[in-house]
Amino acid sequence: MKLMLAPNTVTGQHWVNLLAVAGIHCELHNRYLNGALGEIPAEQCAPELWLVDERDEAIARKVIEAAVHGPPAGSPLWRCAHCGEMLEAQFTVCWQCGTARDPLDD
Ligand SMILES: [Zn+2]
Repeated sequence: MKLMLAPNTVTGQHWVNLLAVAGIHCELHNRYLNGALGEIPAEQCAPELWLVDERDEAIARKVIEAAVHGPPAGSPLWRCAHCGEMLEAQFTVCWQCGTARDPLDD
């Protein structure tokens, strides 16, 4: 299923990588790769992020939301209070069990 549009291919690929780390399989589709590229404005070439399994949608959106608005890469890991999973700082929700990060837990 189509998840969302990425602003550009680089960002889209970054999101694919983040989702892969979270165990979510998705693909980057670009309708314009075959043929018309070069004849249309770049902003119309925005790639589409497609989920392989639509059951991953809620978590996938959280992962990308966190990537867009979260702290920069390199921040310390945090441990999920519910399942003990170690998570990167850009995740605000545990991808394993869906528990939100406790803001007091640093
Ligand atoms: Zn958890």
